[in-house]
Amino acid sequence: MVAHKKVAEILSSIRESGRRELLGHESKKVLAAWEIPTTRVELARDAAEAVKAARELKYPVVMKISSPNIIHKSDAGGVKVGLSSEMEVLHAFKEVVDNARAYRPKAKILGVTIQEYVPHAREVIVGALQDPTFGATVMFGLGGVWVEALKDVSFRLAPLTADDAREMISEIKGYPILGGIRGEPAADIDAIVDVLQKVGQLAYEFPEISEMDINPLFVFDKGKGAIAVDARIILKEES
Ligand code: ADP
Ligand code: MG
Repeated sequence: MVAHKKVAEILSSIRESGRRELLGHESKKVLAAWEIPTTRVELARDAAEAVKAARELKYPVVMKISSPNIIHKSDAGGVKVGLSSEMEVLHAFKEVVDNARAYRPKAKILGVTIQEYVPHAREVIVGALQDPTFGATVMFGLGGVWVEALKDVSFRLAPLTADDAREMISEIKGYPILGGIRGEPAADIDAIVDVLQKVGQLAYEFPEISEMDINPLFVFDKGKGAIAVDARIILKEES
């Protein structure tokens, strides 16, 4: 299968560079190869490249610090959302890099990624891990503070049927937020089902992916889809 081959190639190139953790834009390459919708993204090593990338992707854009040593980019002041001009990109580049240096002086900073801006949507998290006994396992929860504060998540073994995925979604306590409350339209549950199944299949076919998450996956209203705006993939230690 073409997708399998593409992902295998990306993962082996990471191995060759002596790393286990994929950077954000590398993780997104894997998602894109696996046909999981994801934001377009380009790595920019300096301010001039950032401006060029922003022009190509079209304003507004989002800028994120790119460093193998910074996992939670917003904690490091490393995420700027909705930049809408060259001036803003230039200023943001300096600020994001300065923030990162202040946050972790020894961090290796590769530059920033420039990504397309996605209008606000409900945020969920989709993850996968390899259970030592049962193998590839998929995790689902609401994104952001909800998942951390409430530990409101569900798990299933991969590969998942569409019904498994639907159950995972409906059994979290926060489900009404997705189903629609007080006349608010429902979120695109089918799009989440699709991403859950694809992430499960990915972890199932690639046991060398020890853990991964899409956090957040932006979910639009019913019929309008979902898109990964942040992703992280970690490979197993080589044995
Ligand atoms: P981290 O998790 O490393 O702090 P994220 O990439 O998840 O960084 O970004 C933090 C938050 O910024 C996200 O939860 C989301 O609300 C917002 N965000 C990130 N990327 C985009 C984007 N492309 N468009 C719109 N909002 C975004
Ligand atoms: Mg994130």
